Amino acid sequence: MIQQPYPWQKEQWQLLQQRLSQGNLPHALLLHGVEGMGKQHFAQALVNSLLCENRSEKGEACGQCRGCKLLDVGNHPDFISLSPEEEGKNITIDMVRKLATKLSISSQYGGYKVVLIAPAEQLNLASANGLLKTLEEPTADTILILLCSHINRLLPTILSRCQKLLFAAPPLEPTLAWLAEQAGVDSGIAPQLLKLGNDAPLRAQQLAESGVLEQRADLLKMLQALSRGEMTPVQVAEREKKIAIADILQWLSGWNMDMIRLQYSPQPAHINSPDLLEQLRPLAQQIDVQKLYKYFDKLIEASRLARTQVNQQLLLEETLVGWVRLFAKRRS
Ligand SMILES: [Zn+2]
Repeated sequence: MIQQPYPWQKEQWQLLQQRLSQGNLPHALLLHGVEGMGKQHFAQALVNSLLCENRSEKGEACGQCRGCKLLDVGNHPDFISLSPEEEGKNITIDMVRKLATKLSISSQYGGYKVVLIAPAEQLNLASANGLLKTLEEPTADTILILLCSHINRLLPTILSRCQKLLFAAPPLEPTLAWLAEQAGVDSGIAPQLLKLGNDAPLRAQQLAESGVLEQRADLLKMLQALSRGEMTPVQVAEREKKIAIADILQWLSGWNMDMIRLQYSPQPAHINSPDLLEQLRPLAQQIDVQKLYKYFDKLIEASRLARTQVNQQLLLEETLVGWVRLFAKRRS
């Protein structure tokens, strides 16, 4: 997959592409800025651009050439990635030494040798010092790209040897547009999320996702309580009244479909909510599949009604009454 930089990264992209076309790209680049600005994404696009044998005038990789294909399968001999083996661990001196050895050999395909070091703040004192020589006396046609979110954690000796490129807070309007159109974030909560996420678009997206996930999991917990008769539909409707009924109905419909699928296979190939599968499974076991199909029809009708002037609270209560009935035992 060819990655294009995010819309808020155009300026940095154009700057580097201009220098690339002039043949004076810095040999050591430090991409920095708070987390969630998409630096990793940008770096990947840049690596791809550098190793593409047929890039466009704007610097976009072609996706077809030998370089693009090898990079896509993670097998390009002129691309070296340096990252901790596990999150939170260090980039070791050993890794840095191996890098130096690899760089001493000339490029396999006669183009650039590209190194991505991320996150650079995971270089410890020994490995950072070990890297200095590589930064000071770069081998021919070598581009080192360092990523970091906390620039104050880098040694001054590293900083002074890199050309810094800042990914600062992008302008608000296009960011909100991106969040709404590309990231599917509700425009009503996007400004708040962006604020909480240090103006970083990807962080805002993450927050949106995590918030919704919590609400969704909460609702399922209440549905479980309903199925056991530990709560009433009125109580649940009251607790959920701050969440848009359209969202609730969408989640319910997805779960309903998942429970139908679970009736046919213990490990369905496709599932709407894989993260909630273990909660849905015991519920599905208690319900007759015919009832699930009927309830699905009711949910579709409720979704239609939700877009009308209907009393939303009542609609939700009715929908939840229908849920409780799924678990009613047949009279003997
Ligand atoms: Zn290419």
